[in-house]
Amino acid sequence: MRFHCLGTTGYHPNDRRQTACYFLPEAGLMLDAGSGLYRMLPLIETETLDIFLSHAHLDHIVGLTYLLGILHKRPVERLRIWGEPPKLAAVREHLFDPLIFPVPLEAEWCPLAAGDRVEVGCGGRLEAFPLTHPGGSLGFHVAWPNGRSLAYVSDTVGDPAADYVDRIRGCGLLVHECYFRDEHHDWATRTGHTWTTRAAQVAVAAEAERLLLIHMNPFEVGDDPVGIESAQKIFPHTTIAEDGMVLEV
Ligand SMILES: [Zn+2]
Ligand SMILES: [Zn+2]
Repeated sequence: MRFHCLGTTGYHPNDRRQTACYFLPEAGLMLDAGSGLYRMLPLIETETLDIFLSHAHLDHIVGLTYLLGILHKRPVERLRIWGEPPKLAAVREHLFDPLIFPVPLEAEWCPLAAGDRVEVGCGGRLEAFPLTHPGGSLGFHVAWPNGRSLAYVSDTVGDPAADYVDRIRGCGLLVHECYFRDEHHDWATRTGHTWTTRAAQVAVAAEAERLLLIHMNPFEVGDDPVGIESAQKIFPHTTIAEDGMVLEV
């Protein structure tokens, strides 16, 4: 199953990255709906789409407004948008206020809480779990019958001792945020994000097979936005996500 990185930065786009959006076309499964969502159109191959929102900060939701045009060009039978009820309410009341975006979105708005399990495409089972971030966010673990699994841990204070590590233990691909370099770890703690060494320590503690770093600081526009060596010393199988990257899950 292919895992497409449609947007791999946080906060705002830069010249090489859009904001958070990841898509598994075979399963019709999308994780977050940031500005990278506009890239999904040629990839859609199912009649049902499930979009799971980690939280409602703008870098994770702005792309929902792009669905109007995309689904006009390539309609689907069913669109479900999953998230915690207060976050869904905020999206519907504010992002889709007619003064912000002129047309309502035809979708099923599906409440999701930490601990919930949802059947997703290709026989997958998604479980949501809580993360530490201003206003709260959700992480997701998805397991398929063929034994493949994926953990998506976006905005959070990464911590190898945190409860969420138990929820993702043994995952095949750990997709984990890494907004800051090690030297800015104080900023990570203050703003609810993760730094490089911490993300690698989480991958070790979770006994993940692979670590993909996402949600990097958009002011970092070079080839190595996080200081990857300090992660690879701890967890060698670490990669930095790039927009357009496709991984097999
Ligand atoms: Zn974010
Ligand atoms: Zn956030």
